[in-house]
Amino acid sequence: MGSFHLTKMSLRNFFKKPATKMYPVVAPTYTKMSKGHVANEIKDCIFCGICENRCPTHAITVSKEDETWTIDNFSCIQCITCVRNCPKKCLTMEPDYTKAAAQKSIITLKKPELTPEERAAKEAADKEKAARIAAAKAAKAARDAEAAAQ
Ligand code: SF4
Ligand code: SF4
Repeated sequence: MGSFHLTKMSLRNFFKKPATKMYPVVAPTYTKMSKGHVANEIKDCIFCGICENRCPTHAITVSKEDETWTIDNFSCIQCITCVRNCPKKCLTMEPDYTKAAAQKSIITLKKPELTPEERAAKEAADKEKAARIAAAKAAKAARDAEAAAQ
């Protein structure tokens, strides 16, 4: 009886489609909830270092001086802490997995150079911000002087 069941099961499995896929030859199917790898829209990054400080596995390194953001995907445990804590919302968890590789690869992204138009817009925005701060400071100084005179 036992050998009959075993033979039946073996024959069934022999003609059944395999339960696994031949990854990476056959591409996997990702769902909305799949956690693959962390991506950074580097042009929006302000290099504050919050993601580096919050990462439990020290997979991220940020350099404000060089304007670079580095991730060791092989140390990442896809916990999404960095994505949740990024103040600029430039980090996302992409559903596709890190490609299979013979060696560990560390990815470094550098902030792209601004175009002349972008640079001009940034300079104008910085100038406007500086003028607003100076005006606020002057108004406060005037208020303080008025209060002191009373
Ligand atoms: S938390 Fe966001 S803005 Fe700050 S360094 Fe990381 S990716 Fe850049
Ligand atoms: S997902 Fe988690 S482990 Fe991966 S880089 Fe972000 S904080 Fe670090």
